[in-house]
Amino acid sequence: MLTVQNLSVHYRGIEALTAVSLTLRPGEWVGLIGPNGAGKSTLVKAILGLTPYRGKILLNGAALKRQRSQVAYVPQRSQLDWDYPITAWNVVMMAQTRALGWGRSPNSKAKKLVSAALDRVEMLPLKNRSIGQLSGGQQQRVFLARALAQQPNLFLLDEPFSGIDKKTEAVMLSIFADLSQQGKTLLVCSHEWGEALNRYDRLLLLNRRVLANDTPQAVMTMENIQQAYGANIQALHNQNGMPFVC
Ligand code: ADP
Ligand code: MG
Repeated sequence: MLTVQNLSVHYRGIEALTAVSLTLRPGEWVGLIGPNGAGKSTLVKAILGLTPYRGKILLNGAALKRQRSQVAYVPQRSQLDWDYPITAWNVVMMAQTRALGWGRSPNSKAKKLVSAALDRVEMLPLKNRSIGQLSGGQQQRVFLARALAQQPNLFLLDEPFSGIDKKTEAVMLSIFADLSQQGKTLLVCSHEWGEALNRYDRLLLLNRRVLANDTPQAVMTMENIQQAYGANIQALHNQNGMPFVC
């Protein structure tokens, strides 16, 4: 179980997160939603120890710092340098190299894990492709494979559904369902607001603070969308009367 207590993050004068507290339980699939700039990526980076913060982050009651191997991260694609010359296989092997120690050559157990993870995301046939030569959806699947090969208990995924194809979406949804069944915890960032959010067990609505933390049905109200998305909102009503943002 992940517990975040009273977390605050400042970037030179900007208060990106204020007094954020939340709990993620085993097997839970939680959507972290909110507009651009709400602090979703910042929260994920704080959990990963990639940005300084105030407050407490605990995994199963102990400081997360010494248990980082339990946490896997699938970064937002737009934040990566895709010209970096590395194959799909080696991207996934990175998770193993860290476990084995840098400079150690991968053993057969590591190779099996990498192979199984690439197979699970249906990318094994393209394992020798340079990451930059893959489509957006294929790149996303390779980074998901890297997370799977790490065999963590907590998955942090930053906007994994942005700019991907239907096949990638289907593969990811099937994997997320499996992971949740296995008792793994998933925190998925999304800036979109719409019916797709019904797939989560719970939604955390963020805009610097946690504005709502409940079932999708309870969180997706007109009042909440206005509170979180404010004046920039383009709220529309679909056939079910549910507001969403384009
Ligand atoms: P989200 O992922 O919800 O779009 P972010 O966590 O990326 O939001 O950003 C939250 C706020 O912090 C924004 O105002 C953003 O401009 C600012 N911010 C994010 N990263 C940095 C950084 N490295 N330095 C300064 N400001 C940052
Ligand atoms: Mg972000």
